[in-house]
Amino acid sequence: MTGGTVRWRDGEMEGRRRLWKLPKLSMRRNELFIEPLMQMPLLFDIKRYAIHDGPGIRIVIFLKGCNLSCAWCHNPEGIPAGQERMYAPARCIRCGTCVEACPNRALTLTSGGIATDTALCRMCGACAEVCPTKAIELSGTRLTVEEIMMEIEKERVFFEQSGGGVTFSGGEPLLHPDMLLQLLDECGKRGIHRAVDTAGLVSSEILLQVAGHTDLFLYDLKMVDSVRHHQWTGVPNGKILENLRILAGTDTNLIIRIPLISGVNDDEDNLIQTAQFVATLPGEKKTVNLLPYHKIAQTKYLKLGRAVDFQLLEEPGAEAIQKAVEIFKEYGIEATVGG
Ligand code: SF4
Ligand code: SF4
Repeated sequence: MTGGTVRWRDGEMEGRRRLWKLPKLSMRRNELFIEPLMQMPLLFDIKRYAIHDGPGIRIVIFLKGCNLSCAWCHNPEGIPAGQERMYAPARCIRCGTCVEACPNRALTLTSGGIATDTALCRMCGACAEVCPTKAIELSGTRLTVEEIMMEIEKERVFFEQSGGGVTFSGGEPLLHPDMLLQLLDECGKRGIHRAVDTAGLVSSEILLQVAGHTDLFLYDLKMVDSVRHHQWTGVPNGKILENLRILAGTDTNLIIRIPLISGVNDDEDNLIQTAQFVATLPGEKKTVNLLPYHKIAQTKYLKLGRAVDFQLLEEPGAEAIQKAVEIFKEYGIEATVGG
């Protein structure tokens, strides 16, 4: 398989990461790779009874590792490909058990809770294992294809009753094409409906290969202006738009999903640009889902120890959401609110 790279000007990447206080991704300086990640994927969540990630009742499998870092990301623990340690001070009863259990003396009990020396932590998980209140948890579990299929099969009765299935999400599931293709094939053989949720920053060859084994793509489109896209997600969007156009030209079922964030992309200019772009995609008229931003993920950032200026991100009001629906309608596009 082949792939390209998106190159950064000197310091650009670091500048944006400092602005949003995000951790470094595992990438070479000034190069953002769209090739598959080499390491075996970790899962950071399995969501059951999901009703917003494709048709019917679904199980959503979340794979770790993403090459975007959207400022509003609802799954920040899914951005790094490796394991992460999450600590919730509100759950901590200050028992000190984790301090004793840590083989690397990385933890200290302070008046404010547990302090971690990240230079000493080896992500062994001993602290999470002994914590009686689950105040410490490790995000990132390694499961085999067979183990994931066992989890999927447990939900079969719900798929059959509701017309549901499995959705692979992340992170960016297309950064793990080998495992993803194995899972998609296995689901296909068992007659389970398959959806893939992608941000689209991958090689076109991989995208099309996966499309041949997928029943539905949920394709995220944040904004059309590349400079703004770069500012808010850490990457330009030329490849993302190109891939969306390529995918729309195939017979793949496609739903375009647009997160709607006040002050980021709910302005008229962006919505008109986006509607114009969608209207000119090849193939049948595409369905658009508008996904209003909500703040429920903010506690995850605190648990990960990431400081983000939440003031910059606002939930859109009912009027702004309705306005967005109408703008798409003017271009002949049916936009529904929610997944
Ligand atoms: S993950 Fe392991 S090394 Fe890190 S703080 Fe916990 S016990 Fe210590
Ligand atoms: S073991 Fe859990 S509850 Fe006890 S001090 Fe550590 S983090 Fe807090």
